[in-house]
Amino acid sequence: MLRKLYLEKWKPDYKADNLLEIDWAEFKSEGIEFVFLDIDNTLAEHGSRQADQYAHQVVNLIREHDLPLCILSNALNDRIEEYAKSLNVDFMGQANKPSTKQITAKLKELNVEPGNTLLIGDQLFTDIWAGNKAGCVTILVKQRFLKEAFQVRIKRGLERFLLSRYDNHTDKAKNSDRN
Ligand SMILES: [Mg+2]
Repeated sequence: MLRKLYLEKWKPDYKADNLLEIDWAEFKSEGIEFVFLDIDNTLAEHGSRQADQYAHQVVNLIREHDLPLCILSNALNDRIEEYAKSLNVDFMGQANKPSTKQITAKLKELNVEPGNTLLIGDQLFTDIWAGNKAGCVTILVKQRFLKEAFQVRIKRGLERFLLSRYDNHTDKAKNSDRN
């Protein structure tokens, strides 16, 4: 039991191959009011300073559903600011995920419940852990590019192990959408 709970903290509520396949209308109808989105390997190639066509498509899609969006990244503020400006979206750099400090502060400022917030990213030990701790609905997306920072690459093996365990423990008949 304890071991199960211990592993649960990194378990995403949902998984998606990419940001375009997320059912934004469904989440909106379920009460989602706000979206936190990771940058590196979620929305963009690691180290990007300017949004590409895919990122524009994603942001337009989220806007079409009238969902406010904030980019949430552990990378340095000056790059995140430049990147976010290329999409004209709100941002928080140096977020120190899995810390929830900035997430909680932002939601308080906006008066949005964490449970009505999506947190989307490509890493279990930063994005998903932070989102789960903060009480957000979490979505793990597949990493967009193979290029990654060394410290990220070394965590991928452990992520794969956990994801395979989550898959094995899923009752697919009951949860066709959830994991
Ligand atoms: Mg990332």
